[in-house]
Amino acid sequence: MKFPNQKGKSVFLPAEELLNKDVPAGVDRRTFLMRSAVISSAAVIAGCSTTGNEQKAAATAPPPPAAPNLSADLNVVKKTKGPVMTVLEEFYKVGPGPSSSHTIGPMRITYDFYQRCTKLPADQLAKATGLKVHLFGSLSATGKGHGTERAALAGIIGKEPATVDPLFLDGLASNPKQVFPVKLGDKTFNASLQDIIYDAPKGDFPHPNTMTCKLMGGDAVLYEQEYYSVGGGFIEWKGYEPPKKGQPKYPYSTMKELLEHADKNKLSVAQVVMANEVAVSGKSEAEISAFVDKINNVMVAIVKSGLSMPPGVLPGPIKLKTKAGEVYKRAMEDRYEKERGVGVVSAYALAGSEENARGHLVVTAPTGGSAGVLPAVVYALGEGGRGLPKEKIRNGLIAAAAVGYLCKHNATLAGAEGGCQAEIGVASSMAAALIAQAHDQTNLVVANAAESALEHHLGMTCDPVAGYVQVPCVERCAFGAVKAWTGFMIASNEIAVDRRVDFDTTVNAMALTAKEMNSKYKETSEGGLAVSVVLC
Ligand code: SF4
Repeated sequence: MKFPNQKGKSVFLPAEELLNKDVPAGVDRRTFLMRSAVISSAAVIAGCSTTGNEQKAAATAPPPPAAPNLSADLNVVKKTKGPVMTVLEEFYKVGPGPSSSHTIGPMRITYDFYQRCTKLPADQLAKATGLKVHLFGSLSATGKGHGTERAALAGIIGKEPATVDPLFLDGLASNPKQVFPVKLGDKTFNASLQDIIYDAPKGDFPHPNTMTCKLMGGDAVLYEQEYYSVGGGFIEWKGYEPPKKGQPKYPYSTMKELLEHADKNKLSVAQVVMANEVAVSGKSEAEISAFVDKINNVMVAIVKSGLSMPPGVLPGPIKLKTKAGEVYKRAMEDRYEKERGVGVVSAYALAGSEENARGHLVVTAPTGGSAGVLPAVVYALGEGGRGLPKEKIRNGLIAAAAVGYLCKHNATLAGAEGGCQAEIGVASSMAAALIAQAHDQTNLVVANAAESALEHHLGMTCDPVAGYVQVPCVERCAFGAVKAWTGFMIASNEIAVDRRVDFDTTVNAMALTAKEMNSKYKETSEGGLAVSVVLC
């Protein structure tokens, strides 16, 4: 029996052709046959045909290497020894999507390098003729799908991530040959996308997202810095030393310790975190509140912008149709109130996630890929639904940050290190804590809600189709938001002390799962949906 595609041709490599073929050197027969069968099956499902040579090439492609070890020199590795020291301004970062590690991080890196260059001695700058950026590892493997080169170019010519006009990045996508003048000291030279180089995708790098930035004087390197985009938009560089900070008033490195401080001092989770923010950052409570309110406003604006976009297609080869506006409209017409609620929250998350996929501004919460989850919940709790006052949502965002801090501290926030459990899973966990805190639930309910949402994302892999943060990422944000609400509903309706699994145990399980997860499922687009979905 033949399985024809839409053009009437068989999508299978004929059995006799496959079985009688010599198995290529270096590949065992069983592996060759198995992989050929999987590729054929994927083609059947998609209704696409593949030639024998295409199937053979895919079936004999070398398997991806084992998950890369992170260098012990990275601060992101060393940091797990002391208490949580992250502050809100480091955590909630505004920048261009679609990926905190592949666009916001690289843009922060190249902007940092640009700023360093502006401070170089005049005689060094007098020899400058150009800038080069080399992308390695996962940045090289999937950077094209993320638009890493556009974000990197924007930063290196001096555009700031939090304020860059998304239309500038859209313009680079539609007209990639543009050239931009860069002025450093008395020298002005041109920079373009040709200066952003997709270098080795595999190698022994200190971090899967490694970059080097160079100031060139002809063929000579005048100044060079190696950087790492370590997840969630955080960046480090070779020799990185974390900035000097104050000591937290209530030091904690686990949820258990945080809850002990809160209970002993009769404080909420948000109040413990606020007290630490003041002590660590040196800022006043009013300044910190103003920052969190700004993040709230940006999230609301992102959802509104996403909902208002006309129906269209997201950038890239998937040709994924946008649907936030339509899902919202139809959900609002739903005659069943409860289904309307689920539909509306999903639409808000789709709106935020589609904005991310467009490369428009997002807030890392904790990453770009997961950036639809928290805005959906923030908007649904505020003017897009429940109408809670701003202070309640502020407290929720602060408690949510504590959940993100702990996941970063004891596991990871990067899909390239831990799969999607580290992105959507953590976002959903943060959102569940946000809802619980905003409703003034007890501290244990806040922690339990976060645990519940994270628990049911454990093991989730990162397999973006064609390297684009669209499939599965856009819809996955909607599921993350809805699961957050489910986590809150369960935690606030059960007897809190009866919960069998605590938050710290689940974070530990996430870290273990991340460590043992095959690198094919860590943002390399070499496994799962990324190889099962065939783009015609
Ligand atoms: S699959 Fe998940 S972790 Fe991977 S890019 Fe998409 S949202 Fe991020």
